[in-house]
Amino acid sequence: MRAPFVTERLHSLTHLREALGDLSLDDRLKRVRAAIPGRIVLTTSFGIEDQALCHAVFSLGLEIDVVTLDTGRLFPETYSVWAETEARYDRRIRAFYPRHDALEAHIDGHGINGFYASVENRKACCEVRKVEPLARALDGAEAWITGLRADQSSARSAVDAISHDPARGLIKINPLYDWDRPTVVEYVKRHAVPYNQLHDKGYLSIGCQPCTRALEPGEPERAGRWWWEADEKKECGLHVAADGRLVRRSA
Ligand code: SF4
Repeated sequence: MRAPFVTERLHSLTHLREALGDLSLDDRLKRVRAAIPGRIVLTTSFGIEDQALCHAVFSLGLEIDVVTLDTGRLFPETYSVWAETEARYDRRIRAFYPRHDALEAHIDGHGINGFYASVENRKACCEVRKVEPLARALDGAEAWITGLRADQSSARSAVDAISHDPARGLIKINPLYDWDRPTVVEYVKRHAVPYNQLHDKGYLSIGCQPCTRALEPGEPERAGRWWWEADEKKECGLHVAADGRLVRRSA
């Protein structure tokens, strides 16, 4: 459901966007929480950026809902860092799952690993396992916090501190928009934040197990996601640009 706050106040967030640039991560999140009324949701897939954000939110005790999408196809290491994170901060991270009837119909129609057969099958799997659960996770929220960084790929180079998700009618907050990977790693290590052990084995961007591989030396950060697809087809259903296009996950 589209929150009226978005259309009424988006333009007034310009000053907030500008103010965030000079702030630490902690102060960015505090400023966002103070500026935006209503429910704010942080989605985590337990990648290193999300772990940095979780650490800040939990340590500061901010009233921000931290949720995850359990696709059912995650790596064992991802479930481990999920449990480790809950133990470290004594917090439960709410999980959203695929609708069982939609998933059963999808598997019946495409097979358990049907996503390798075509881009359409892959998108259908992502829709059932990720996009629809995300919609429920964000239902009623005013703002959505993500771990997007502008330097992750050319397609994400326009990622800003604050943007608008027109499809979902949400304000999108990207507190790490101007961080690079070494800055994130340094932050996580300085605060002894739990992180996915796959990051030490060549997996920089971690999604579902059958759709993620380790990188070869020199490969771009997101090259290990849906590596069998042609680059121009590597679109994600979760992130939508301000003009309504899907954000491409180009390698
Ligand atoms: S990343 Fe792969 S397994 Fe996960 S939802 Fe998308 S197609 Fe399905």
